Amino acid sequence: MLRTRNQPEAPLSHPSDDLAAFIAGLPKAELHVHHVGSASPRIVAELAARHPEAGVPADADALSEYFTFTDFAHFIQVYLSVVDLIRDAEDVRLLTYEIARDMARQSIRYAELTVTPYSSVSRGIPDGAFLEAIEDARRAAERELGVVLRWTFDIPGEAGLAAAEETTRIATELAPDGLISFGLGGPEIGVPRPQFKPYFDRALAAGLHSVPHAGETTGPGTIWDALTSLRAERIGHGTSAVQDPRLLEHLAERGIPLEVCPTSNIATRAVDTLESHPIGEMAKSGVLVTVNSDDPPMFGTDLNTEYGIAARLLGLDAPGVATLARNAVKVSFLDEAGKARLCEEIDTYLATWQRTG
Ligand SMILES: [Zn+2]
Repeated sequence: MLRTRNQPEAPLSHPSDDLAAFIAGLPKAELHVHHVGSASPRIVAELAARHPEAGVPADADALSEYFTFTDFAHFIQVYLSVVDLIRDAEDVRLLTYEIARDMARQSIRYAELTVTPYSSVSRGIPDGAFLEAIEDARRAAERELGVVLRWTFDIPGEAGLAAAEETTRIATELAPDGLISFGLGGPEIGVPRPQFKPYFDRALAAGLHSVPHAGETTGPGTIWDALTSLRAERIGHGTSAVQDPRLLEHLAERGIPLEVCPTSNIATRAVDTLESHPIGEMAKSGVLVTVNSDDPPMFGTDLNTEYGIAARLLGLDAPGVATLARNAVKVSFLDEAGKARLCEEIDTYLATWQRTG
């Protein structure tokens, strides 16, 4: 269990034991979670052991201490040291497969994992080898762990248009089987969304879905830009949507969901406290919200914890939490048969819980 020094002992993060147990076993889909940002101390220890020259401790306990979230600058430092440990295709494969193992332990059955190929390719891992590694891990995870992975390839906005071009080329020309959507991450301030329109146009023309981050650290104008310029089908975070009633109405009417990541929003200070998180206001406006973990070990959380927080903030009981889980499946980009199967699994789990609870 990772400690988080900067988070108060909020009762919000502790659902009742019963509900926590329900959430732990509930089959879930995760729609907003990053590849490198999912490297847990256990995984980093394995990577560090492969590259002793990097000087990162290969001891999971020492790493837990290192990972203890202090502030956003520390998060960036941890994130970059993990990036530095991903040096060859085998590292990529190991990271990806082990992330799926961590997901399986949380009853996550399906995840759209945001991968930033540019980070690895620009550090010298050939694009073909990178894609082969994630695809190999994806197939093994589905076969051996029962976790279905799909990819969102995102443009690291801070790396500019060269990164956008390279990400688009890899996504549209090399197009691995597991790729379903196209995203945009990195800082929002000073990185206007509309400049990425031509890249999103190409990705969408190639059949990918549009899922940019927007409105996490900037106002609702960025979300409007994501909708109009990038034709967003879901919004990553969208925290500031609540500042614009017309936008909330638009999101609700068009059925454009928000990928909400409560603990991440506190960690990055997009929101002051969990108690003041706008997820309740979003849901009350009729906007479909999904609950996600973003960079879970780096923010000292996991998807089950985020579901617990959301249950408290939204006042949900077990059937309500099951609806939350079902909604994530419905607005995912899994094929219809896969969605039906996973929703049925959720229904069966809830019915069994109610019968035996
Ligand atoms: Zn994110």
